[in-house]
Amino acid sequence: MTDDYELRTTMDTIAAIATPIGSGGIGVVRISGPSAVEVAGRVFKPNPLGLDSHTAHHGTLANPNSSEQLDDAVLTIFRAPKSYTGEDVIEISCHGGIATIKAALRAVLDAGARLAAPGEFTQRAFLNGKLDLAQAEAVNDLIRARTDQARKVALRQLDGALSSRVSAINSRVLAVIAAVEAAIDFPDDVAEPEGTWIRSEISEAKDTLERLLASFGGGRIYREGLRVVIAGRVNVGKSSLLNALLRHARAIVTPIPGTTRDLIEESVDIHGIPIVAIDTAGLRATDDPIEQAGVELSRRSIELSDLILLVVDAREGLHEEDSALLARLEGRPVIVVANKIDLASPSDPTPALPTLGREATVHTSATTGQGIEQLEDKIAEIAGASDAGSESVVVSNARHEEALRSASESLGHALATLNGGQPIDLLSGDLLAARNSLGLITGETATEDLLDRIFSEFCIGK
Ligand code: GDP
Repeated sequence: MTDDYELRTTMDTIAAIATPIGSGGIGVVRISGPSAVEVAGRVFKPNPLGLDSHTAHHGTLANPNSSEQLDDAVLTIFRAPKSYTGEDVIEISCHGGIATIKAALRAVLDAGARLAAPGEFTQRAFLNGKLDLAQAEAVNDLIRARTDQARKVALRQLDGALSSRVSAINSRVLAVIAAVEAAIDFPDDVAEPEGTWIRSEISEAKDTLERLLASFGGGRIYREGLRVVIAGRVNVGKSSLLNALLRHARAIVTPIPGTTRDLIEESVDIHGIPIVAIDTAGLRATDDPIEQAGVELSRRSIELSDLILLVVDAREGLHEEDSALLARLEGRPVIVVANKIDLASPSDPTPALPTLGREATVHTSATTGQGIEQLEDKIAEIAGASDAGSESVVVSNARHEEALRSASESLGHALATLNGGQPIDLLSGDLLAARNSLGLITGETATEDLLDRIFSEFCIGK
């Protein structure tokens, strides 16, 4: 982080609407920066200049140019450094109508604030040392969490669970770096650290990294959702099944084969796990170029999925293309869904399925809802194989995973150097690289570009 960067982001006063745009009980305009109180004083009565920190005041909001009264509002004042951003912060809670909240923001901007960029409040909190980078990212995860488990994982990260684990590893690496460098710099005064001590410190740091990395499979699912692709031949009931899972109509269900040409993605919460269900075009060979593109999309989404629901007609069982798909999916999690069970003969519901073997099979009727709960249980069971909900620290962010992996690789390399009997001078490069990777998670070694990229993913007002 350069000095310029800090200056650019901390010198002026920013404002934004902090609540969703729409109608609601209240809408909040948030102001942060060195002149937040003065800016608020130009639009709000009573003037907050003399007000104590952490107090709320009922008053009137007016446009600073026309003095037109805009709303009856409540102002809350948080003085630096005890605020979300670490700067003076004012929050004006207005009536939550779009016109009112927009007029309130306009007034605050006219009074001298600048419109905040996405994530700029949290960025300032980070720059002022209120949060480290992993915690700042957790704020965004918390806002976006769609299920209870996702919320818990984000909240733990916001509490600093990941950061403190990473800092502990970092301290261990730093201690080794310090010992090695002292021995290199002052060969006459400082004894070379014991090889066994260095080895055990690096090994323990690496083991902790590996344990964190192991939590990533489940962690990613909580953050991004489990990608469940619904595949199968045309007309077996894929769209109907997605609808049954969503319990409301989203995909177009029609008796004409080949209507689902685009991928339809929907998010559902199954036992606390966010599931992104993707309905695909059937995988049949077709001459229609639009449908061909759909088939190609299906193939690709299957490649990228975490779980495939292969839907078949319970009366017909597996067709050749289903078996071909299963063969291609060898080793991937698949649930075979024998759908339209309501139409099947009760004595012999699924003629071709008993030979299936490895895959789980669930019998459903998308029309009557029969078997849908069993299907949900099965999906949750497979997702839960990598369940991260009860772990104390979970890595849920691909950026963190990459940094941890790279730190672990550097430490592995250092261990190899040590085991090869090489001089300890050669360890420094790898140890510093590991330290640099770990610093990317907490933000200590993050570049301006990286910070800009991370905060630009936030919404405005956060
Ligand atoms: P897709 O092409 O695989 O997406 O199939 P659709 O979901 O569009 O369904 C094709 C037809 O089968 C529609 O007429 C559905 O109403 C019907 N259908 C789907 N699932 C069931 C089911 O479980 N039972 C019955 N009786 N009909 C179903």
